[in-house]
Amino acid sequence: MANPALGAPESLERQAELDELPCRLVDPEVFFAESPLDVEHAKALCQSCPLKTACLAGALERREPWGVWGGELFVQGEVVARKRPRGRPRKYPVAEPYAPAASARRGQEAAA
Ligand code: SF4
Repeated sequence: MANPALGAPESLERQAELDELPCRLVDPEVFFAESPLDVEHAKALCQSCPLKTACLAGALERREPWGVWGGELFVQGEVVARKRPRGRPRKYPVAEPYAPAASARRGQEAAA
C-alpha cells in the first residue's frame, strides 16, 4: 500500500530515498499484521524513519482505519497502545439470540 504522506516523488533521487524507507524494505503486510509481535516489529522499524513525524501527522489527519503509521498503531482512526491478540475473551457476555419459535417448541416438548 502506498503511503499517502509521502506524496509523489519529484525526482529519481527522491524516489531512491523513498525506496530506502523501512516500510519499503520489508513486506508491507507487516504494517497491517494481525499478530501483536509483527505490529511491534513494524512500530520498531518506523523509529529510524526520517519521515516518521510527517507520516504520523498524515495518518492522524486522515484518521487511518488500521495499520502502523509513523511508529504508532491505528485502529479505527485512533492511536492505540497495543494490538489485542485474536481470540481474546469478551469483556462482557453476549446475550442469547432471541428465538421465540425454538423456546415455544421446547415448552411444548416439556409439557408432553
Ligand atoms: S514512519 Fe513507518 S510507515 Fe511511515 S514512512 Fe516511515 S517507515 Fe513507513
